[in-house]
Amino acid sequence: MNNEPNPHPVIGPALLQFWEDKYIEGGHDHREMSIKGASFRHSWAGWCARKIEYALREYRGEEFETEAIAMADRWRMEMGTIVHDYWQAAIQHVFPDAEIEHITKLNLQEGADDLFSAGHGDCLIHSEQFGKIAIELKSRNGFGYKMDIGNKGSDPEGPASSAIRQGALNAMAVDADHLVVLHLSLESVSPGMLPQPHKGNKFSPMRMTAEWWYPKEEYMKFAEHELARASAIVGIVNAGANHAPRSTPDMPAGARIVDPMKSKWELWDHKTGLMTQTGQLWNGKFCDYCQYRDKCLEEGL
Ligand code: SF4
Repeated sequence: MNNEPNPHPVIGPALLQFWEDKYIEGGHDHREMSIKGASFRHSWAGWCARKIEYALREYRGEEFETEAIAMADRWRMEMGTIVHDYWQAAIQHVFPDAEIEHITKLNLQEGADDLFSAGHGDCLIHSEQFGKIAIELKSRNGFGYKMDIGNKGSDPEGPASSAIRQGALNAMAVDADHLVVLHLSLESVSPGMLPQPHKGNKFSPMRMTAEWWYPKEEYMKFAEHELARASAIVGIVNAGANHAPRSTPDMPAGARIVDPMKSKWELWDHKTGLMTQTGQLWNGKFCDYCQYRDKCLEEGL
């Protein structure tokens, strides 16, 4: 028996094509800025600074070629949306006072009139014990979820810094007492790979969900850092003379992505002229998810 998949499938692709046509017709490819007039969207938190520059320029009306969205990308986004919708329906029963998809807004300085950034918080709940809790929900594929909670004895990686930063900005906007980054896995993991004290417990909810709590003093450090970074990027775009650096908060300070085809970064010591560190983001896949890569390659460092 030949176990190779049929190299020319017809049934699955026809079903997917029907689904994709509906997805596009529903306008899901285009998301509006949460609030008109904001310069920064909280869902851009943790992105590469250059990518934020392109997103902002595009939002302000500049037109340039972006990479086509593949069916597989739409499928991934749709799966996340379905889990999101299930969860939001559930939370309204479990926490009837919860605020869902509430709009969040921030100014750069307290009391300032100018709106700087905006977003949608996934959920806000009010607890007698913990006060105001801002929840940032992320759906994860099975592999990513295992890495988040610690795969086969390896140290847990926890949520992506972009999720913490986005959640921190939304939490800051509502003056929450806690930020909770809540992960829901698209697949359940085996009981044997759970961390203690859940290991081996087939009834543990951690087979599908994990949460990380950040008290205000902790999440505010992320929020303030991201707000300062976003302000600097917007300043560069407004000045119009230079490009924002190809850098992310996950790279060492001063490092730059030098090869977007390999997501390779380097850090140079400009006094000695020597490269001191190099690495690849997401095992070389980071820039693969950037719709502005062609533009980035064209405009260079
Ligand atoms: S391709 Fe990479 S370096 Fe360039 S804007 Fe996108 S994420 Fe940044």
